[in-house]
Amino acid sequence: MADKLISLAELAGGVPKKPVRGASEQLPPGASPTLQDLTECLMFSPGDGRIWLNGARMLLMHSSGIGALRRELIESMGLARARGIMLRTGYHCGARDAALIKERFPEADFLALFAAGPIIHAIEGAVKVEPVHFEFDMNLGTYYGEFLWHHSSEDDEHIAQFGIGTEPACWMQTGYATGYTSAMVGRLILYQEVECRSTGSSICRLIGKPAEEWDNAEEILADLNAEPFVSSGGHGATARSQGDKGALPADLQACRPAQDGDMVGISSAFNAACHMLRRVAPTQATVLFTGESGVGKEMFARMLHRISPRHDEPFVAINCAAIPENLMESELFGVERGAFTGATQSRAGRFERADGGTLFLDEIATLSLVAQGKLLRALQEGEIERVGGSRTLKVNVRVVAATNVDLRAAAQRGEFREDLFFRLNVFPIHLPPLRERKEDIPLLMTHFLQRFTQLHGRHISGFTPRTADTLLAYDFPGNIRELQNLVERGVISAPDGGAIDLAHLFTSGERLAQPMFSIGNRGQLAAATNDPAPDTRTPAAPGNDAIQALFGGRDLSRLSLQEIEDTMIDHCLREVKGNVSEAARRLGLTRAQLSYRLSRRLDAE
Ligand code: ZN
Repeated sequence: MADKLISLAELAGGVPKKPVRGASEQLPPGASPTLQDLTECLMFSPGDGRIWLNGARMLLMHSSGIGALRRELIESMGLARARGIMLRTGYHCGARDAALIKERFPEADFLALFAAGPIIHAIEGAVKVEPVHFEFDMNLGTYYGEFLWHHSSEDDEHIAQFGIGTEPACWMQTGYATGYTSAMVGRLILYQEVECRSTGSSICRLIGKPAEEWDNAEEILADLNAEPFVSSGGHGATARSQGDKGALPADLQACRPAQDGDMVGISSAFNAACHMLRRVAPTQATVLFTGESGVGKEMFARMLHRISPRHDEPFVAINCAAIPENLMESELFGVERGAFTGATQSRAGRFERADGGTLFLDEIATLSLVAQGKLLRALQEGEIERVGGSRTLKVNVRVVAATNVDLRAAAQRGEFREDLFFRLNVFPIHLPPLRERKEDIPLLMTHFLQRFTQLHGRHISGFTPRTADTLLAYDFPGNIRELQNLVERGVISAPDGGAIDLAHLFTSGERLAQPMFSIGNRGQLAAATNDPAPDTRTPAAPGNDAIQALFGGRDLSRLSLQEIEDTMIDHCLREVKGNVSEAARRLGLTRAQLSYRLSRRLDAE
């Protein structure tokens, strides 16, 4: 058996148990994740235009489309650069898959996780992989892997475009193997095809070894690190010429999400907002953050201040909705002693306190028209007057505002001063709602899980797969704040040492999401069952016989949705002996939703 020593770092980081040595022959037969387990990671949400692989968005596209892309790349930039691009693209995908698999099966045997790469690659439709042998020894830093590839999609396309040639052509797949293995074992393992169908062989044979064991490592490393792809990372040629063979290429680093405290995300919508933030931060421009409640406007405002030249000066926030109207003016501009009853002392307002720094005005649309007029004057003149005071004070304040209403429309309705709107709308940054950046949900889940397990001193292993799937499909009307609250609730409710399940999250009437589809027994899309027994990770899927029995042998394709739903509800109610709350939970409904369905049936009868 392989050694099962676990380092302290691994314990702390929660990475899968990684044995020091291992070989393919030691892989226990039927070890999880199996093909079935991995297939369950793939979810289709056709109504929503999305496909998920355990939280990462996937694309189903024509293999011939990739063929056309390859040809264009080769013809426009030459074979070597095209090969590099495809290799690095494959590398990115392999490294991403390794991260997803580790995250989804935190308890799985390391060898089984390792062996999952070829299975996922096959599920994705790239190639059928037949492992010949692999082995590694972490102490010695050795690795050897040999795999056969059957009917590689890349070869099909390459041969269709260019015919049989003299060089192997499965570039993206080779990159995938390199990325997956390197991310799994934590050091760079280089792969090369020693036989390939594109050179006339009947199959492709792939060998993987550490860089220093390849005679032509420089060439492969050059392909992995070429400048055009990674120029933003500030490495490439230099890293290559230093011959830093053991280090992971920065692509792997780049797979890490942008992360600044709570600012977590890899989605394009999030990154677009971050990009704008970085653009405007060094200037003095007024910034207006727009977006729904809970999207993180204050967090962005704080980050803006932190990366601006004013970062050593004060950041002062005021929530305009939280301050009574009659106190707003004195809050903003300060008050002189005796200005009104109760003003027993002179006091500086927020503008004065923010002098030299940044003043953040949240929910600006709730300001009264009078306060808006005074704010406009302060912005235009750079001067304020305390309430009851007679002298004007110069202030140097960068104003940042936020709103969840459409200020332009409010101005048209006469509820917001148009001149103030234009004064604030110098550089608007729209923050997307969470449902438009679903790619970030898994990152945020992990982020909040870490934060709250630490804060509450709990040991939680993660989320059950169906919890992850449900959160991905959920619309999050309360955005990031809602996800944060759900995870905190889950961390508190879940049993110590266990995983967060649906019942730990949705306890206060959240509306669960639209249906998702997964791969059925015969490879077709089938409605995802949102509900096995609560504490088993991968319960046996009911066979066709069980389903037939449930529906009394009727032809399912001829039943209405209503009949199927009614049958499921009745079956579930029988199983839980009429306990409506429990049945609702098992069906992924709230108790109110199930009661409504039951009462509707009674009305109809
Ligand atoms: Zn090949």
